[in-house]
Amino acid sequence: MTTPLLSLKGIGKTYAARGATPAFRALAGIDLTVMPGEALGIVGESGSGKTTLGRIVTAALPPSEGEVLYRGTPYRAPMPLPRRAQVQAVLQDTLGALNPRLSIRRQMLEPFAIHRNVPRAARGARIHEALAEVGLDESVLTRFPGGVSGGQRQRLLIARALLLDPELLVADEPVSALDVSVQAQVMTLLDRLRRERGMAMIFISHDLRVVRQLCDRVAVMNNGRIVEIGPTAEVLEHPTHDYTRALMAALPRDHPRARPSPSPESTTMAQPLRPHRLRSPA
Ligand code: ADP
Ligand code: MG
Repeated sequence: MTTPLLSLKGIGKTYAARGATPAFRALAGIDLTVMPGEALGIVGESGSGKTTLGRIVTAALPPSEGEVLYRGTPYRAPMPLPRRAQVQAVLQDTLGALNPRLSIRRQMLEPFAIHRNVPRAARGARIHEALAEVGLDESVLTRFPGGVSGGQRQRLLIARALLLDPELLVADEPVSALDVSVQAQVMTLLDRLRRERGMAMIFISHDLRVVRQLCDRVAVMNNGRIVEIGPTAEVLEHPTHDYTRALMAALPRDHPRARPSPSPESTTMAQPLRPHRLRSPA
């Protein structure tokens, strides 16, 4: 049996109280595996804990409970440097991920501060290749982040992540901030890169349609827990959980899978303690 690329065991996260804001339990009892090359979707409405989970996977945030294993070896935030190259993130806020005052060329060179084994002379060529992979012209390198479109910035950030040859890419709502017209292009790009490179991907989205297109398996989150997980087609065609059904029902009517709006009862979802369906990866 292949060792999973990533395993989460009993992960919980409680954000500490701050001032008048009480402590908040954002994740509880998360068990999850990602196999090499697999695309796992994580869906759930805003506030369900998706970003917290993604940040724990990239070791940007330490969990309060449980263990994260990478190829069977536990790791904790902050990760040792080589591991940072193996797990990369692509986020929704492309402007926030870049320094507005530094040229794009400067910022494309930053990964080499982590990946020191790439000789200086070879760095330009690596950047050139990565830009070609995401369909960008080299002329963007002399520009500043504010001088290119949102779609181009996301392509740049994907290219920058690729410079480190990640084995796992965590994409947290990577197209949500982009014009609808370029969303599909960026999604198709991510899908192609994943297949070409045999890279695993965790694709976080509140949009089930996106996940249906890109992911082998999907985990449905509600209130900090995984309430359903399984092969994408099975979960979406035959949702066993009320919450998943409600998410499906929220799809626009013009979509083949569209259903009538959920009744108030079905959107006020009960909270199960265990996932309804647990399957091992295919
Ligand atoms: P999602 O990405 O699904 O919208 P998040 O992981 O961002 O969910 O947030 C889950 C919950 O944790 C939300 O209720 C959010 O308000 C809370 N939360 C997120 N970050 C923090 C933080 N740094 N401190 C306190 N609470 C937080
Ligand atoms: Mg989020």
